[in-house]
Amino acid sequence: MSKSALPRKRPVLLLVTLFLALGFLGTSIVSYQVSRHAIRESILNQELPLTSDNVYSEILKDLVRPVFVASMMASDTFLRDWTLQGEHDQTQLTRYLSEVMSRYGAFTSFFVSAKTRRYYHPSGVIKLVNELEQRDAWYYRVRSMPEPYEINVDPDLANRDLLTIFINYKVLDYDDKFLGAVGVGLTVDAVRQAITQYQARFDRNISFVDAQGRILLSGQHGGETNIHYIEGLRQLAPAVLSQKTGSYEYEQGGTTHLLNVRYIPELKWFLFVEKSEDGALEVIRRTLYINLAVCLLVTILVVFITSMALTRYQRRVEEMATTDKLTGLLNRQTLDLLFQQSINLSKRAGEPLSIILADLDHFKEVNDKMGHLVGDQALKRTATCLRQHLRASDTVCRWGGEEFLMILPNCDAAAATALAEKLRAALESDQELRDFAPNCCTASFGVAQHMAEETVESLVARADAAMYAAKQAGRNCVMTA
Ligand code: GH3
Ligand code: MG
Ligand code: MG
Repeated sequence: MSKSALPRKRPVLLLVTLFLALGFLGTSIVSYQVSRHAIRESILNQELPLTSDNVYSEILKDLVRPVFVASMMASDTFLRDWTLQGEHDQTQLTRYLSEVMSRYGAFTSFFVSAKTRRYYHPSGVIKLVNELEQRDAWYYRVRSMPEPYEINVDPDLANRDLLTIFINYKVLDYDDKFLGAVGVGLTVDAVRQAITQYQARFDRNISFVDAQGRILLSGQHGGETNIHYIEGLRQLAPAVLSQKTGSYEYEQGGTTHLLNVRYIPELKWFLFVEKSEDGALEVIRRTLYINLAVCLLVTILVVFITSMALTRYQRRVEEMATTDKLTGLLNRQTLDLLFQQSINLSKRAGEPLSIILADLDHFKEVNDKMGHLVGDQALKRTATCLRQHLRASDTVCRWGGEEFLMILPNCDAAAATALAEKLRAALESDQELRDFAPNCCTASFGVAQHMAEETVESLVARADAAMYAAKQAGRNCVMTA
C-alpha cells in the first residue's frame, strides 16, 4: 500500500470532532429544551395558579369581612335614622363608629354625610368634604357610582396618611336617596406582608391591578403605577383585563415573564402572580453548561486518543509499505517475503531460477563530487534502466543503498549472465546517467543460479561473492558464481 492510500489524519480528526460536537450539542440542547418546556409548563399550570389560590384565600380572609361589615353599616337603621333626623347627637355616631372599629378589628371607620358634608371618624368630625379637594374625590365618585360599594386604596387622612384599603359603601335612605358614604378601612400592611413573604419565598412577583390596569399593591414593577406603562405587559393589557383569568407570558428587557392572572370579583381586582423564567431556568442552564463542558472534555479526549491511534497506525502501515520511496522499486522487506515464494514456484515448475546482484561503481564519488541529490537522481535513473530490460515476470528490488537485486524465474545461469551483460552495457551507455555522473556510472554484476535445497541466504551470498569478484576484476563487468 502506498502512503497516499492511507486515510489522512486531519480530515478524519475533523470528522470525529464534528460528529462528537454535533451529537453532544444536539442532545444537550434537546434535553435543555425539554426540561425548559417542562419547567415552564409546571410554572404556568401549577406553581403560579397555586400561589394565586393561596394569596386569594389570604386576601379573602383580610378583605371580605370588612366588605361585609361595611355593607352592614350601610343598611344599619340606626345610622340612617340618625342621619335623617338631622345628625343631632354627634357622640352617638362617634361611639357607633369606634364600636365598629374595635369590634371588627378595622383600622379605621367613617361616615360622610351628604347633607352636612361632615366626615365623621371615631374621634369626631375631622373635616368637611369639598368637591374641589383632590383627596375628597373618592366621596364624589362613590356618590355618583351605580354600584353599591367600591374598594379603594388611598392614604388615610385620619391616620398619618398611611396607605389604607377603604371599603366605601353608599348609604341610601328608605326611598333609595343618597344619604352619604360609610365604611371601614384596613391597613394594607397585612396584605403587603403576605405578598412580601410570597415574593421572598418563591421568587414570585405579586400585584393587585384594578380594571383600569392601575397597580394598587405590588412588590415590584419598579414603582410603575399602571400595567399600561410596563414594557411587554402593555400589549397584553387589553386581553388580560378583559379575559379576567388566564396564563400569559411577556418579554421585558430580554427576560421572559410568566404570568397568571385571576380576577377577584369580591374586590373587582385582578391578582397578578408572575415569575421570571430566567430565575427558574438557572439550574437547568447551569446543568447545560456543565454538560457542554463535559462534552468538550470528552471530545478533546476522544480526538486526542483517535489522533494517537491514527499516528501509530500510520507509522505501522508506513513501515509495512512495500515500495522504496526513491526508486519506486520493491523494497528489501517485500523482496524477503517474495524470495522464498519465487524459489518454491520455480522448484515446483521444474524451472531454473537465477538472481543478479548489481552494485554501482564508485558511487561514493558521485555523491561526493555531484552531491547527494544528483546521486539520488542517478539511482532513480538506474532503477528505470534496469526495469526497462527485464521481463514482466522478473522482480527487481532496491537491495541496499546503491545495490539492486533481480530475481529471474525460468532463467538459468547462462541466460542470467547474458541479461546481466545487457544490463551492464545499458547502464554504461545510458546518456542520462552520464549526464549525472560522467565516467563513473557503471555497475558490477554478480550472477548466481539457485541450486537444489539452497537457502536464500546462501544464494544471495554467492551472488554477492560474484559481484565482489567483478569489483576485483576492475568493475563494470559481470561475474557468475
Ligand atoms: P564501489 O565501487 O566499491 O561499490 O564503491 P562505492 O563508492 O559505490 O562504495 P559502496 O558501494 O560501499 O558505497 C555506497 C555509497 O552509496 C555510499 C553511500 O553514500 C551511497 N548511497 C547509498 N544509498 C544512497 C542513496 O539513497 N542516495 C545517495 N545519493 N547515495 C546513496
Ligand atoms: Mg555498495
Ligand atoms: Mg558501490
